[in-house]
Amino acid sequence: MKTGSCECKSVHYQYDGEPLTCYACHCTDCQTSSGSAFGLSMIVNEVDIRITKGTLITNNLDYDGVKVQRHHCEKCGSSIWFSADIYPDIIALKPGTFDDTSWFKPVAHLWTRSAQSWVYLDPDVPQFKQQPEMSELISLWKNRGK
Ligand SMILES: [Zn+2]
Ligand SMILES: [Zn+2]
Repeated sequence: MKTGSCECKSVHYQYDGEPLTCYACHCTDCQTSSGSAFGLSMIVNEVDIRITKGTLITNNLDYDGVKVQRHHCEKCGSSIWFSADIYPDIIALKPGTFDDTSWFKPVAHLWTRSAQSWVYLDPDVPQFKQQPEMSELISLWKNRGK
């Protein structure tokens, strides 16, 4: 069982499951949304996560025709996860919201063609100039450390 929360601690969640994958995305949407150099996502089964305190508000976004929902704290605005109509049962949890972030690291860097020039990318971690197949990201996570 793992726990996480938003910045203001109004929203708490519990996560009990095995992630499908975890990656860093350097696309310009992630840069803008996070206000930072890249976004970190952990793909998890939606049934494995439960809000234990507070309320999430949903923004409806359009990423080049893909309908995406951003779920965030109504008080502080921290993004907790994203969902997309094309992936009905999984969500992209923002794993920086975990209380303990020491147990995971990204297995791939996505959209490196728009990565900020000063970001150092570990050459041992696979890089993709654009969007790889989800199945590829899932197998990288399965085979991590092997
Ligand atoms: Zn909050
Ligand atoms: Zn992105």
